[in-house]
This record gives sequence, C-alpha cells and structure tokens, in this order.
Amino acid sequence: MDLLKEIRNVPDWPKPGIQFKDITTLAKNSTAFKESCDLIIKKYKKKGIEKVAAIEARGYVWGGVIAYQLGAGFVLIRKPGKLPADTITEEYELEYGTDKIEIHTDAIKKGDNVLIFDDLLATGGTAKAACNLIEKAGGVVAGVAFIIELTGSLHGREKLEGYDVISLVEIPVEE
Ligand code: AMP
Repeated sequence: MDLLKEIRNVPDWPKPGIQFKDITTLAKNSTAFKESCDLIIKKYKKKGIEKVAAIEARGYVWGGVIAYQLGAGFVLIRKPGKLPADTITEEYELEYGTDKIEIHTDAIKKGDNVLIFDDLLATGGTAKAACNLIEKAGGVVAGVAFIIELTGSLHGREKLEGYDVISLVEIPVEE
C-alpha cells in the first residue's frame, strides 16, 4: 500500500512556511497503521532489540506496538519536566534557540540494544539528541526508525551518520 497517500500535508502549520506532515490520517487507517508497524518490526526482528525508545508524543503510538512485537521493553523519551524520577537530559539546537529531551536515569541497562523511534526525520536534531541520550545512559543504538523522512535541504540523515537509519516514506522538501 502507498503509505505516502495516507499522510496529510497541512500547509503553514504551526507557523507560516511549515508544511506539517500530519500522520494522524495514517494512524486512523487500520491497514496503513498495521503495515507501517509491521515494516519496522520485520526489519528489526532478528537484531536482538532489548528496548524501544520513542519520542513523545506521536512516537509512542508506533513505539509501543513495535516494542511489544519485538519482545522488547519500552522507554519514554520526554520533553523536560514530565518524568517523575531522576533523569538524564540532552540539549539540542533548533532553528532558533535550543530544546531538551530527557529519559529516566534507570531506563536503560548498560549494554542494552536500543531501537529509537520517532514519526518523522527533519533536520535530525531530535533523533541525534535521542542517540546521545541512550549512549549517555549506557545503551547501544541498534537503529533509528521513522515513518517519514524529509529529504533534500534538511540533511537529517547526515546528522545520523554512523547509525542504522530507516524510514518508510521519503518526502522531498525544497527551501
Ligand atoms: P528534527 O529534530 O528537525 O528532525 O524534527 C523532528 C521532530 O519534529 C519530530 O519529532 C517531528 O514530529 C517534528 N517535525 C519536524 N518537522 C515536521 C514536519 N514538517 N511535519 C511534522 N512534524 C515535524
């Protein structure tokens, strides 16, 4: 099935100039949702994944299913101030300013084989910060998976050089 057709483009949201890729239209379609989960599960089935770490909030929708099917644990990567116990934090650059993500200090066991999941790869800043976070916590990043990859001027994949990166749908962007 053509997953690209199930993704809604919302122009100028949340601000002018942004072409927002709305994945809720894919999620609500049972066939598309199952297929998108299955493609990632198939790829990592034999890779000994022990934890799936996903980025809030859309990452959790797929991440939980993928973890369950891989027989892995699930780790929540969150924006600051949301996790209740001790956390490790990673700061990263945005177009203007910086942002942070966190995980619980005890979320990863030393040497855990971790698959990172997020819905979309744009500049790669968020996913690279997630890789740093997992490594700081003692984990090994076995792969970084996305439903959508924005290709072209954003160079997200380059930022993730050295990691096993997969995406299901590539969408070119121009600047
Ligand atoms: P980046 O750190 O630039 O790779 O941005 C990735 C994060 O921002 C992901 O968690 C996405 O959900 C979100 N994001 C960035 N750009 C878009 C876009 N055009 N449409 C939907 N989500 C986006």
